[in-house]
Amino acid sequence: MRFICDEMFGSLARWLRMIGEDTLYLRDVDDDEIIRVAREEGRFLLTRDKELHRRYPYSMYIDENDLDRQLAKVIEELGLRVDREKGRCTLCNGELDIVEREEVAGRVPKYTYLSHDHFYRCRECGKIYWKGSHWERIRDGLESVQENGRFS
Ligand SMILES: [Zn+2]
Repeated sequence: MRFICDEMFGSLARWLRMIGEDTLYLRDVDDDEIIRVAREEGRFLLTRDKELHRRYPYSMYIDENDLDRQLAKVIEELGLRVDREKGRCTLCNGELDIVEREEVAGRVPKYTYLSHDHFYRCRECGKIYWKGSHWERIRDGLESVQENGRFS
């Protein structure tokens, strides 16, 4: 399943990418353009706009304010699996490759460099990622949604 988020869901799009979901996020485009791209690429639309939801039925209307609840709703209702080993670039949706520590020397903080054996690099834009505590925490939270039906 591939996603497209409307303009209201920038944070949601980033987190979906982080758990490995192919997610497009378009800014400053009108509804017609969102629908055109969604249709062309067969993407499931996550939207805060009832009218958009009505016009493009392969979609979910989400009225939650909190990111936690938005994520929980998408994961629960669509039965997504959180794969701890997958992940996409939160900036550009590119796929991540695992790279050895030596390859990122000088490009990440020293403590981070020393405390991780490997890193992830975006194939498209080159951004470097690592499994910091924030990433681990949110993933644990997402797994808890799957197991217990709520975000911990
Ligand atoms: Zn990227």
